[in-house]
Amino acid sequence: MGEFDLIARYFTRPVRRSPLGVGDDCALLQPRPGMQLAVSTDLLLEGRHFLSTVDPRRLGHKALAVNLSDLAACGAQPLAFTLAIALPRIDEPWLADFSEGLLALADRHDCELVGGDTTRGPLAINITVFGEVPAGQALLRSGAQAGDDVWVSGTLGDARLALEAFRGTFSLPQEVFEAARLRLEQPQARVALGLALRGIASAAIDLSDGLLGDLGHVLDRSGVGATLEAERVLPLLAAAPAMKLATPAVLELVLAGGDDYELAFTAAAARRAEVEAAARQTGTPVTRIGHIDGTRGLRVHDAQGQPLAQRFAGFDHFL
Ligand code: ADP
Ligand code: MG
Repeated sequence: MGEFDLIARYFTRPVRRSPLGVGDDCALLQPRPGMQLAVSTDLLLEGRHFLSTVDPRRLGHKALAVNLSDLAACGAQPLAFTLAIALPRIDEPWLADFSEGLLALADRHDCELVGGDTTRGPLAINITVFGEVPAGQALLRSGAQAGDDVWVSGTLGDARLALEAFRGTFSLPQEVFEAARLRLEQPQARVALGLALRGIASAAIDLSDGLLGDLGHVLDRSGVGATLEAERVLPLLAAAPAMKLATPAVLELVLAGGDDYELAFTAAAARRAEVEAAARQTGTPVTRIGHIDGTRGLRVHDAQGQPLAQRFAGFDHFL
C-alpha cells in the first residue's frame, strides 16, 4: 500500500458541509456570513504526549479532542480539521483503529476531515482544527474582571494520576486506574459548554497544562489576580474518595496535574444562575472554585482563609 491508497482508505470521506475536502491542493471552507474563523493546532509526539503502548483508537480520539478543546475554550463551533501524520511504517490494523477513533469523535462533533499530509517518520500527529464563532463573540483569555467568579468544568487531576500510575509513582486499585486512564487517554472536549457560555463567561481557557499555570495565563492577559478555595478544589479529583491521599498530594494533582481538557472560565457573580443553566443544558458539571481580585497573582486559601500558595511555588517544574 502506498501513500495515496493509505489516504484514500483511512482518511478520506465524502464531505458534507465543506465545499471541498481531501484530494486537491487545498480544502475549501465556507464560514457563514458574520462568522469569524477560529483556528487552532496541536502537535502530538510519541513518548512526549502519549505512550507508545496506547490503544490507537484512543490516540485518534485524543489527537482531535485536544484540538476541539481549544475551540471549546473560544466558544467556537467545530467545522473541519486537517491531519498531518508521520508514520514509521504502514500498519493497517493500527491505521484502521486510529482512524476509527479519530473519525468517530469527528462525527460526534460534525467536524469534517478535509485534508492533511502523510509522510514516513517517527510517529507524530498534527491536527489543525477550524471552527466558527459570531464576529466579536469568541471567549478570550483577556476578559476576567475583579469580582468575577472562577469556575471549572468536570474533574481535574485524574489524567495526571493515571500518568503517575504508569510511571509507578502511585499504585491504584484497578477500577480507579481504569477510570483515571480513560481521562488521560480519552478526554472529552467541552464544546457544548463553550458554546453555551458565549455572552456569559468573561474569559475562558482550556486546561492542558494544569489549572494554576493555565488560569495564570487568564490572569496575565486580564491584568488581575485570583484566590481559589482549597476546600472547593480538593473534591475535583474524581479518584480522591477511593485514594485516601494526603491533602498536599491531591492539591498537587488537581492544581498542577495537566492533560485535563476541562474549561476554566470566569463570569460575573451576577451571572451564576446563567452559568448553572448553561451547565445543566449541556450536561456538564461545573464547580465554582474562587474569585478574581485586583491583586495580581494566584492564591490558594485553606478553609480558615490562610494562604497555601507558597507550597506550590515549584509547580512549573512539576513535569
Ligand atoms: P500536496 O502534495 O499537493 O500537498 P499530497 O499529495 O500531500 O498533496 O496529498 C494529497 C491529498 O490528500 C491532499 O488533498 C491532502 O490534503 C490529502 N491528505 C494527505 N494526507 C492526509 C491525511 N493524513 N488526512 C487527510 N487528508 C490527507
Ligand atoms: Mg503534501
